[in-house]
Amino acid sequence: MAETFDLTGKTALVTGASQGLGAGFATTLARAGAKVALAARQTGKLAELQRAIEAAGGSAHAVAMDVTDAASVRAGFDAAEAALGPVDVLVNNAGIAIPKPFLEVTEDDWDAVVDTNLKGCFLAGQEAARRMAGRGGGSIINIASVLGQQVIGHLASYCASKAGLIHLTKSMGLELARVGVRVNALAPGYVETPINAEFFHGPAGEKLVKGIPQRRLGQPDDLDGALLLLASDASRYMTGTVVTVDGGFLLA
Ligand code: NAD
Repeated sequence: MAETFDLTGKTALVTGASQGLGAGFATTLARAGAKVALAARQTGKLAELQRAIEAAGGSAHAVAMDVTDAASVRAGFDAAEAALGPVDVLVNNAGIAIPKPFLEVTEDDWDAVVDTNLKGCFLAGQEAARRMAGRGGGSIINIASVLGQQVIGHLASYCASKAGLIHLTKSMGLELARVGVRVNALAPGYVETPINAEFFHGPAGEKLVKGIPQRRLGQPDDLDGALLLLASDASRYMTGTVVTVDGGFLLA
C-alpha cells in the first residue's frame, strides 16, 4: 500500500497550509515522498511547518498566496515551481466559514466566503491546470465538505460555496480529462482541528458528535487515505468524483 501511494518525484502545492487540515495534508504528502509547496497569505506562519517537514527528511518551501487574488496565485505558483519544480498535485484547501443566521448574512460575509472557498479554487485550479496541461497532466484535489451535500443552519454561504465547489470539480474533471488533469473532491465530515476543538468538546458539539454513526469526530489523519489515493497514480482512472470521509455523517 505504501508503494502504491508513493509520491516520490512529485511536487505538491497546498493552499492554506499554515494550520489545521492544510498543515496536516502538507505533512502527509511530504511523508509520502512529495516535495511540498506550502502556500499561505503570510509565509511567516509557515516557518515551523517547513522546519518540521525538513527535520523528518522531507522537502518543503513556503510561498505567499492569497487564493482570492489571481496575480497572487500566479506569483505563488511561479515561486513554488522555481524552488521545487513543476507542480503535479494541487490541494485546494484554503477555506473559511462565517456562521450566521441567514437573515443576518451581509454582502461582505457572502463575498468573503464564496471568494475564498469557490473563486479561490477556480483561480488556483485554473492556474495549476494550465501548467499541468502543457506537460502531460496532474491531480487537483478540491477540499469540499459534507456541507456541500447536505445543509445545516447558520452556514448558508459556506454550504453554497462547497456545493458549488463539488459542481466545479465535475466541470473541471469533464473538460480537463483530455489533457491528463484529474480533478476530484475530498469531502470531510467533522474533523477536529485546533480552531474547532473547543466547540466539539462543549455541549452543542457533543450532541452533534452523537449524531455521527461512528460516534466520534474525525481526526486529521483519517483523511490521509483519501488524500494519498487522490494525489497518487493509484487514482489514475478517477476524475470528477467526490470522496466523502465522514464516519457515516451523510447516512444519518
Ligand atoms: P482552518 O481555518 O484551520 O484553515 C484554513 C486555512 O485557509 C488557514 O490556514 C487560513 O489562513 C487559510 N486561508 C483562508 N483564506 C485564505 C486565502 N484567501 N488565501 C490563502 N489561504 C487562506 O480550517 P480547516 O478546518 O483546517 O479547514 C481546511 C479546509 O477543510 C477548508 O476548506 C474547510 O472548509 C475544509 N473542511 C474542514 C472541516 C473540518 O471539520 N475541519 C470539515 C470539512 C471541510
